[in-house]
Amino acid sequence: TLSKRLHKVSEYVLGGTVADIGSDHAHLPVYLVKSGVCEYAIAGEVNEGPLDSAKENISKHELTCKVEARLGNGLDVLADRAADTIVIAGMGGPLISSILEHGKDHLAFVTRLVLQPNVAGDHVRGWLYSNGWKLITETILEEDGHIYEIIVAEKGEESIYQDNNREKLIWLGPYLLPEKEDAFKQKWAREKKQLYAIQSNLQHAKSDSESKLQAIAKKITWLEEEGL
Ligand code: SAM
Repeated sequence: TLSKRLHKVSEYVLGGTVADIGSDHAHLPVYLVKSGVCEYAIAGEVNEGPLDSAKENISKHELTCKVEARLGNGLDVLADRAADTIVIAGMGGPLISSILEHGKDHLAFVTRLVLQPNVAGDHVRGWLYSNGWKLITETILEEDGHIYEIIVAEKGEESIYQDNNREKLIWLGPYLLPEKEDAFKQKWAREKKQLYAIQSNLQHAKSDSESKLQAIAKKITWLEEEGL
């Protein structure tokens, strides 16, 4: 059985072939093929240990014909095979966006990206915006005390941002902000607390931290504007 987080991720995967990059145990691709959502899955892993776990799990479910564990960095595992959906889940936003940036050449025939950053979703949204991907939807959920964002994108021109609010919406999530779900409020209450803590440290340090303080004050203002 999948975690609540990965189950939610699975709901956004299209039929056909899926590539799960950084798949670890290959729980997600096994589920997607077993449940009939996908015909074929690639579980990509850069590390041997997790790759072995993936292979073991795939064999256990007798899916070696339909789920393939491949060793490789990021999207390199797609060198000779197209995927309809790419999933990158359970990593930080900066790592997810660097995997996309380094693997740009392998995105030509990909229809959908399902990205689940554990932190710093703004890096992921920023990369999508700069590279011709349009947000389709976003979800936020809480599991075992952690809050996770899921970002779904397809190719196209982005029209959800305006010039005067883009930076703020990339930070908060343009589909998440209007909903203001409990998990969303919890997440930003935590972040706001951290911003206050950093702000007070910087103030006490009396260093040349004026611009950092301004950046923090701006973010706190954004949260207050939204009643968060
Ligand atoms: N995707 C699974 C999930 O969401 O539960 C596993 C997440 S696990 C925390 C992150 C995995 O990504 C690790 O197994 C790690 O080896 C793998 N990984 C990290 N960088 C990678 C890269 N550049 N290419 C492929 N896999 C990578």
